[in-house]
Amino acid sequence: MTQAPPDAEARRAISPVICYPIDTLPVPDLGLYHSARATAGKVGEVLVPPREGRCFEVKAGQFFRISSVEGPQVGDLNLHNLHDLKERFFSGKTRALHGTHVTTGERLWSNLPYLRPMATIIEDTLGWYGIDPFGGSVHDVIGTRCDPYTGNLLAGGHYHHCCHSNLTRSLADHTGLPLSEAEMLVHDVLNVFMCTGFTRDTGQYFMKASPVRPGDYLDFFAEIDLLGNLSACPGGDCSSEHSSDTAACHPLLVEIFAPVPGALDGWSEPPVNAYDRSHGR
Ligand SMILES: [Zn+2]
Repeated sequence: MTQAPPDAEARRAISPVICYPIDTLPVPDLGLYHSARATAGKVGEVLVPPREGRCFEVKAGQFFRISSVEGPQVGDLNLHNLHDLKERFFSGKTRALHGTHVTTGERLWSNLPYLRPMATIIEDTLGWYGIDPFGGSVHDVIGTRCDPYTGNLLAGGHYHHCCHSNLTRSLADHTGLPLSEAEMLVHDVLNVFMCTGFTRDTGQYFMKASPVRPGDYLDFFAEIDLLGNLSACPGGDCSSEHSSDTAACHPLLVEIFAPVPGALDGWSEPPVNAYDRSHGR
């Protein structure tokens, strides 16, 4: 341990400042989204089996709902621009803008150089959970996705139904890409329904049993044409372990809804980020 300087306590006592104040972030018109959602009819659904992934397509201006069915279950969500798979969900910047966990009114942002909202959360039946005494909360953008490489590193072996592999197989199946190319497009996720945080004493990433119950859901508005990819995590409710077939696992339901024509008058698809990309040259 290095020697603390004489003014160590004074340095620690400095108040933090928010890295990215979001007062200037465009505010989504939740009133408009909710009134459009009220007109919407179901146009498709996909049931994601336990320890598997499935893709789904949602057009800009449509809605999708991820629901818990049968039992408590966590899902790992990837989002791509349907027409350009390189534009994908950027969990790191979403975290920097909205915090470690997301809920109603917050948005899922795309990677650089696009950096625009891909989807907006319009309803969250677990919104009541807040932050528990351990510092845990739900729907995190801090975890990456369970994967067989970390499993191999820590415990050896070759487990094939981690979310990373589930997402890889489902993206390959949906797009026709070879598995090796699909794998390179899989990215850090929104951990739907997962309850996580960092321990106060050591700062370690923790998980605990998700408070989700059958009937709970997360509703999204698609800001652009989306290819979604969802894995029903082998960790089940993530109360004990993942990266194995040990936990009880349940399916997740994805439903897609389209509003009636005219219901979104005044709304338009967000353009890609306006930075000129000259990088000072
Ligand atoms: Zn997982």
